Amino acid sequence: MIVRTIATTAEVSGRTPFIDTVLLKVASRCNLDCSYCYVFNMGDEGWRRQPKRLPLGVEQTIVSRLGELLRDQGRPFSIVLHGGEPLLLGRDRLNTLFAAFAAAVPSCGLHIQTNGTLLDSDILDLCAQYGVGVSVSLDGPVDVNDAFRVDLRGRGSFARVMAAIQRLRDHPAQAALFSGLLAVVDPRSDPDEVYHFFKETGTPSVDFLYRDGNHTALPFGKASFTSTEYGTWMTRILDLYLADPTPPRIRVLDDMIKLTLGGRARKEGIGVSDYGIVVIDTDGSINKNDTLKSTADGADTFDTPWSVLNDRLSDVVATAEFRSYHEAQRPISSICKACPDLHVCGGGMPTHRWSDEKGLDNPTVFCADQRLLIGRVREHLRAHVGEVA
Ligand code: SF4
Repeated sequence: MIVRTIATTAEVSGRTPFIDTVLLKVASRCNLDCSYCYVFNMGDEGWRRQPKRLPLGVEQTIVSRLGELLRDQGRPFSIVLHGGEPLLLGRDRLNTLFAAFAAAVPSCGLHIQTNGTLLDSDILDLCAQYGVGVSVSLDGPVDVNDAFRVDLRGRGSFARVMAAIQRLRDHPAQAALFSGLLAVVDPRSDPDEVYHFFKETGTPSVDFLYRDGNHTALPFGKASFTSTEYGTWMTRILDLYLADPTPPRIRVLDDMIKLTLGGRARKEGIGVSDYGIVVIDTDGSINKNDTLKSTADGADTFDTPWSVLNDRLSDVVATAEFRSYHEAQRPISSICKACPDLHVCGGGMPTHRWSDEKGLDNPTVFCADQRLLIGRVREHLRAHVGEVA
């Protein structure tokens, strides 16, 4: 089973990780059916076994478990409401949940990652009241977005999402509310058009993600391990970004620049930092980073069936099995270990390193893309600040 392969490929240290991000699944279904979604459309069937919405009793246990985790580790973490589509929980349930978090874990940041289609003024007021940051998924202009981000009847989501972004921008608390946009790259699209479109939305930031895939199932738009469709696309975004005096923030590029200059990254999948990510599903089960779903059915589950209903999170985090998952973020491939760009690239997301033959013992499938992009970052920095790492 894949989970065991992951567990045996990392050397486990004695260090107990800190949790910095809790992804909380409050709805296991979605009102969109994006063709590339790793939750529903890449072979994982876990969502079928989950309650559609977070049951109230499970919610109360989660709140108290997160309060316990905060006390145990003495360090706050981010709580990101995820799905499916988290707004399917509904305004009243969100109100109850936010109030409970405000009482139990007041120092923890709250965020929602939403497809935007249900983001009405009532929800925005509620998020503003509790200081909840809102990040909206949108891939680009209408033809780029609606090629993949469609509803259950195949209709594009662009118009509904743009209306929600306008509501966000018009809200009196928009500066605190609007965290930014999350965009999945279509390497066939025109990066100039996509960059200028995002700038016009008024978003404070764009998080670009590559399409999920691995060495066994290549990502959409990538011809081979050595091809550079994504790197070429992102290199053009980098050129536009650095030439723009008032750009939206692009975290993946900021991180690459910081790491090249000897600083630290903030985003998972870049650099060699470890991130403490745990997922809690609507049944209360404690799982791995859900992006692993794109490798195989059940790849995000632990061998031990932990649940907030039975287990203290800090006890789970201290186990060898959890530490093995946590340390699997570090690349084990000999190619990565010898790579001059390792400190910037970090070997990519574990899910993108996967092959059926070698598990995670590979560079990211986007290795050639990363090397191209990092090389371009270095060229820019040399031109502006001289010699760089
Ligand atoms: S660029 Fe390739 S070889 Fe280098 S660290 Fe990244 S994935 Fe590994």
